[in-house]
Amino acid sequence: MKQKILDLRDQALASIKQVKSVEHLKELEVSLLGKKGQLTAMLKGLKELSEADRRVVGKMANDLKQELAQTLVEKEQGLKRKASQSLGQEFYDTSLPGRTEPYGHLHPITQFIREIEDTFLSLNFEVAEGPQIEDDYHNFTALNIPKDHPARDMQDTLWCKDIPYLLRTHTSCVQVRYMESHDAPIRVVVPGRVFRKDDVDATHSPMFHQFEGIMVDTTTNLSHLKGILTIALRRLVNNPQLELRFRSGFFPFVEPGLEVDVTCVGCEGKGCNICKKTGWLELLGCGMVHPYVLKTVGLDPEKYQGFAFGAGIERLLMIKHKINDIRLFYENDPRFLEQF
Ligand SMILES: [Zn+2]
Repeated sequence: MKQKILDLRDQALASIKQVKSVEHLKELEVSLLGKKGQLTAMLKGLKELSEADRRVVGKMANDLKQELAQTLVEKEQGLKRKASQSLGQEFYDTSLPGRTEPYGHLHPITQFIREIEDTFLSLNFEVAEGPQIEDDYHNFTALNIPKDHPARDMQDTLWCKDIPYLLRTHTSCVQVRYMESHDAPIRVVVPGRVFRKDDVDATHSPMFHQFEGIMVDTTTNLSHLKGILTIALRRLVNNPQLELRFRSGFFPFVEPGLEVDVTCVGCEGKGCNICKKTGWLELLGCGMVHPYVLKTVGLDPEKYQGFAFGAGIERLLMIKHKINDIRLFYENDPRFLEQF
């Protein structure tokens, strides 16, 4: 019986050594240690032995069981390690290009704001920013929109609850802030977010972007305004043939006030559905800064004069790229954003 156990040990260890796959190892484990395995059968034969022999042989058999179980585990780990190494070698192809992370880019509005800044910096303007939460004075009063002025009804404003602040309805308040803290001559452009109590549709959003420009000096006049707007807009919409049409219009903070139309991108002036057969698209408001505004910020209107303009950034981008729905800018759909 002792010899049988020793023989089984030699034979089992030799077999384990030769095994080349995990599946074969599992089969071998069953044939050695399983319910119907060789060692189990041997342990069953113990009861035929005398008590003294049973104790000695039983201990040998149990030791062997443990030894084999341990060897099987080690062999399995070895086989798995080998398998993963050879797998790695098989699939490692040095000629393949490396994996790269997908890159995003700046939002089209941010890109366009930077283009606006570059354009006006090249015309010797400065770039300024201001708070998006404004007080009544900077948003209305200083811009010649007194409390009972009908223009306040035109501006459907988002007011803060319980405190006298509002979300600015235009970037024009930054003109005021800038002129309060800077002496003339002034040349500044102000891009930024503005807020109106608008319902959302294809051309309206309660939040959108504007850029505002102002130039004040002793001789600045309407021809400068026309020249600068023509250069800047042609560059921004990337169309050197773009024509501008100036019509009179009313804004409380300019006198005279002008509205600017540009050649329709849909028909290039011939007349189509986009421009309602007129050949022109309304783009922005501008004019000569009202003497009241200059006086309010501490500039002598007898000495200084200048122009100001304000335009919607989304509006200009929509004209430039023939985009028909403003909501596309805020949906963050990569199919839209990847086109810029
Ligand atoms: Zn048209």
